[in-house]
Amino acid sequence: MTKHGIKKRLVFVGGGHVHLLSLKNADQFSRAGAEVTLIGPDRFHYYSGMGPGMLSRIYKPEQVKFDVQSMVESRGGRFVKGKVISLDPANRTLALEGGEEIPYDLVSLNIGSYVPMDRIPGAEGEGIPVKPIENLESARESILKKFRNGIPKVLLIGAGPAGVELAGNIWRLARSQNAQAEITLASSRDGILPNLDEKVGRVAQRSLSQRGIQILSNFRVGSMGKGLARSQSGLDVPYDVAILTIGITPQRIFADSGVETSKDGALLVNDYLQSTNYPDIFGGGDCIEIKGKRLRRVGVYAVREAPVLLRNLLAMLKGENLKAFKPQRRYLLILNLGDGTGLLVRGSWIWKGRLAFTFKNYLDTSFMAKFQVSGETK
Ligand SMILES: Cc1cc2nc3c(=O)[nH]c(=O)nc-3n(C[C@H](O)[C@H](O)[C@H](O)COP(=O)(O)OP(=O)(O)OC[C@H]3O[C@@H](n4cnc5c(N)ncnc54)[C@H](O)[C@@H]3O)c2cc1C
Repeated sequence: MTKHGIKKRLVFVGGGHVHLLSLKNADQFSRAGAEVTLIGPDRFHYYSGMGPGMLSRIYKPEQVKFDVQSMVESRGGRFVKGKVISLDPANRTLALEGGEEIPYDLVSLNIGSYVPMDRIPGAEGEGIPVKPIENLESARESILKKFRNGIPKVLLIGAGPAGVELAGNIWRLARSQNAQAEITLASSRDGILPNLDEKVGRVAQRSLSQRGIQILSNFRVGSMGKGLARSQSGLDVPYDVAILTIGITPQRIFADSGVETSKDGALLVNDYLQSTNYPDIFGGGDCIEIKGKRLRRVGVYAVREAPVLLRNLLAMLKGENLKAFKPQRRYLLILNLGDGTGLLVRGSWIWKGRLAFTFKNYLDTSFMAKFQVSGETK
């Protein structure tokens, strides 16, 4: 609240993994004199960690989504349905697709990342990008339809964690329907999971190969069209359904706005998750880079940033000191391999088995329970 009794406009852009905690505590911002607004393209946000399991129906969609609109509204905030397309930090306004402008006094951005489809000519309209996670429902529908006409060829382009989890869960989907699918996982490198310890890739590859999933190594897709993916060396692979898991890049709204960005266009922030050149702009998750620390764009960091962001936004309203975010060097990753097993990875330490999946399920469902506070599962 200013000295004239006018409330400060605190705007959250994107109801992603980092903002969930702040939105759940939106009443704290109101008590600190702010008027809270959330802008997002949809009332629901989907939890990526359970996305592959949603495709295979280990989980129903309602178990995997958060009603962020109800979350903010039931705590006295306002929800604006829309997508922010640009930011004007000098005039403290956000522009929405469709032309509306939203002013702010303090803004926090958690708009995530997207799959850069334009990196593969012809991919747009042919392949399904793995993000937003809701797309996995369309992928599931497309595969189910193809089962009616025989054995579909499903191609996963990109053999990182998302590609591996999806390959395993499409296998599970086929089994659950008493159907078959020719599943191919195309890796642009030699082997799969190139950013993890070599041992992890070998264990995952064995698990997928044993189930008949084909791994194409050194197959960098150069173009797509009419059901064919062509590698840069000229080899063709046919597909009925193609899903792109080629990696992600931060959303593009920061370029040309005047805020400092990283090389790949993320909002550059200091240790307080605050823009390096505009103190009234904060952010977290896949859309930021912390100056001097190039962290992997994984949900683990997004979730860890959440309490620091909540605290710092409150501190900004109350005029208190900010707290630094201290990222852990190593983090835990558990892949859902789709056959009831999980592959737990921490640095070079790995553990594969049913218990690893049980542990992942426990962590994921606990996270959901914490933020499904609006009757999503009913
Ligand atoms: C299949 C898959 C599985 C994964 N599994 C794991 C895992 O097990 N562990 C792990 O650590 N990481 C995992 N990841 C990575 C993880 O998804 C990301 O790091 C995480 O989603 C980042 O969270 P975020 O909140 O920054 O972004 P998002 O989760 O993408 O959230 C961004 C939000 O912003 C909204 N938004 C987007 N653009 C705009 C806009 N212009 N205006 C307003 N709102 C907007 C979106 O609708 C969305 O709700 C996985 C990724 C994938 C694809």
